[in-house]
Amino acid sequence: MKFADLHLHTRFSDGTFSPEELVAQAVHHGLAAIALTDHDTVEGCAPTARECEAAGIGFITGTELTAEYDDTEVHVLGYFLDTRNERFLAEITKFQAVRQRRIHEMVARINQLGVPLQVEAVFALANCRSPGRPHVARALVQMGLIKTLDEAFDRYLKKGRPAWVPKARMSGLEAIELIHHAGGLAVMAHPGLNRTDEIIPGLVKAGLDGIECFHTKHSTAMSERYLEIADQYHLLVTGGSDCHGFSKAKPLIGTVKLPYEHVEKMTAVVIARRQAAQAAAKPVS
Ligand SMILES: [Zn+2]
Ligand SMILES: [Zn+2]
Repeated sequence: MKFADLHLHTRFSDGTFSPEELVAQAVHHGLAAIALTDHDTVEGCAPTARECEAAGIGFITGTELTAEYDDTEVHVLGYFLDTRNERFLAEITKFQAVRQRRIHEMVARINQLGVPLQVEAVFALANCRSPGRPHVARALVQMGLIKTLDEAFDRYLKKGRPAWVPKARMSGLEAIELIHHAGGLAVMAHPGLNRTDEIIPGLVKAGLDGIECFHTKHSTAMSERYLEIADQYHLLVTGGSDCHGFSKAKPLIGTVKLPYEHVEKMTAVVIARRQAAQAAAKPVS
């Protein structure tokens, strides 16, 4: 049996692995293919693709966008994107800028609590365009201002704590449209984590292509439930570990293995769509 992991983060957002380290892990766990889904960026895709090629495993370009639908947060994964699509890149650059402003705001709030964290330390540690809360947590630990990453989230960073700042979100419909515009497949990430099943029909209407049935935080019962929902709405089935390296406890790569047949189904849909687009673009003779 061949398996894939289609939900992975690297240093290009809030993971700790470099592309080299990530692909070495993928090889170690015997994966046949991986997708990179860093938050609001596709920057890590080219180096990861090169590593995968050298290692002889399949690679799918991807990203994870934070969106909102009916007042609920929903993460939308994009797969098989054209990573050079201009409008797509312009849009995600805006979200990267908002992420950077959010870091300033979180650090200012931490400073107000009398904790002398320097924002430069967070940016130096993040060293990427898509910084997030895990970077703030790691900087706090690194500077000896707090003991563990969990403590950083529990005391300051998680929702409802004093340094929590809401993330900017695009609308779910915009996220789907943007991913389609870049030639990608739009997939609802970890539905079991957000428990927002009621928004699925609306997203399907907006063109959602798939649903992440297998995820580290999904129980077997949850995965089965989402497999049924995928069947009901004719959605593609995806899955991944959502590994962030050492950003969140321990690396998760290898803990969720998506049967490879689902990758083949995704590929078939992408190819059919591209052929249809090409045929539509050709002048009728
Ligand atoms: Zn997510
Ligand atoms: Zn993720």
